Parts: sequence; structure tokens; C-alpha cells
Amino acid sequence: MTALKPIIAIDGPAGSGKSTIAKLVAKKLGLSYIDTGAMYRALALKAKKANVDFRDEGNIAELAKTIDIDLRYDAKTGQLTVLLEGRDVSEEIRKPYITDEVSSIAKIKEVREHMVTLQRRLAQGKRSILEGRDITTVVFPDAYKKFYLDADPDERIRRRYLEMKEKNMPVEESNVKINIEKRDRIDSTREHAPLRRAKDAVYIDTTKLSIDEVVNRVIEEINKP
Ligand code: C5P
Repeated sequence: MTALKPIIAIDGPAGSGKSTIAKLVAKKLGLSYIDTGAMYRALALKAKKANVDFRDEGNIAELAKTIDIDLRYDAKTGQLTVLLEGRDVSEEIRKPYITDEVSSIAKIKEVREHMVTLQRRLAQGKRSILEGRDITTVVFPDAYKKFYLDADPDERIRRRYLEMKEKNMPVEESNVKINIEKRDRIDSTREHAPLRRAKDAVYIDTTKLSIDEVVNRVIEEINKP
């Protein structure tokens, strides 16, 4: 492998394969893996626990300022542990009551500013792969390699539905569809740091590709001088 500069950035909508691919690439290349969506989810959970209304932007921003989040990725097991204030919330943050509303807090400007600072700090000094919605455009626009993963909406809905079924979460495919469409809309039309395909990001349509094919494509690109 050629000398690997520190940061690999991946963006894309829900169900495009970002987490799956980033985890496997992290494992293969020995990178630290940072799931930035998990951080917004952890903040949503913190707000729920504190009974703060998601429309109360001032108080949500206050919570973001003091949030204590840690991400621990075990490449051997492929497990990401998300710690909120020292407590393992990895499962809780994937539940529908968080997924349904997380985009409402992620659109708040001050929230994003705090999260971006945290994300840069987590990645500091490490060879890292980060995935989210604004990594290639805002968090690390100068990343060594940038990717935009995409897939047809029906395929993204199908993947997310199967993933939740596998985890034994009670779920209807119609609700997954509603959620994904709602998040696509909020995430790509919000005023601050909307989901955008950066001009210099490598675009990969994963609809008809296997996981291995996407992983290989990404690694091939990272290894290009
Ligand atoms: O990646 P995941 O689907 O877990 O992200 C949950 C939500 O967090 C997204 O729908 C989006 O609203 C928000 N998010 C964001 N910016 C990121 C990562 C996630 O706004 N970099």
C-alpha cells in the first residue's frame, strides 16, 4: 500500500452502505472508524432522556455542548460500541424512536458546530475513516480520499428493513420507507451542511454491487497514488 494519509471520508444517504463499507475498510487497513451518525443519535437520546423538546433549539444546543460521547470500534468482531456519558447506548440509539427524530436535531446549526469539533478531535492524529452526511464537504473537505455512496431508494429501504429484522427489531417495511424518505428530505434540504455530493468525491452506486465489490473498489481508490 502507498503511504496512507490520515483521513478517508464517506458520505451518502441512509442505507447506501456507508457503515458496512467503512467498518470493513477500517478493519482491512487498520484505520480508526468514526460513525458520525451515531453521535447525532446519541445526542437525540440524551435529549429524550432529559425531556428536552426537539424543537427547543437553544436547549438542544446546550446539551450538545456538554455531551460526552466515545466510539469504540473492535475490528475483530466488527462491533461499534457507542458510549454516552460512559454508558453503552449502542442498541438504544438504533431504535425507531431515535431514528424517527434524529434528523430534526441534526439540522440545528449550533449542534452541527459542536459535533464537527468533536468529530475532528476524535479523528485527530489517527488514520481514520469517517462516514456521515457532511464529512466530505464540511468536516474534512481536504480528506485524503473522499467517497459518495449511493443506491436506489427501494434498495436502501430493503437493506435497512432486513438489517432491523436481523436485529429482531419489530418493524414494518412501510415505516422504514416513511423514515428513510423523511430523513432523505430533511438531510438534503436543511440550511446547514446538507447532504451533498462533493465534486471531488468518488461516486459509487452500490445498488447492484456486493459488499466485497464496494470494499474492493474503495480500497483500490485509497491505494491509488
Ligand atoms: O448515519 P445515520 O443514518 O445513523 O445518521 C442518523 C442521522 O444523523 C442522519 O439521518 C442525519 O440526520 C444525521 N447525520 C448528520 N450528519 C452526519 C451524520 C449523520 O446530519 N455527518
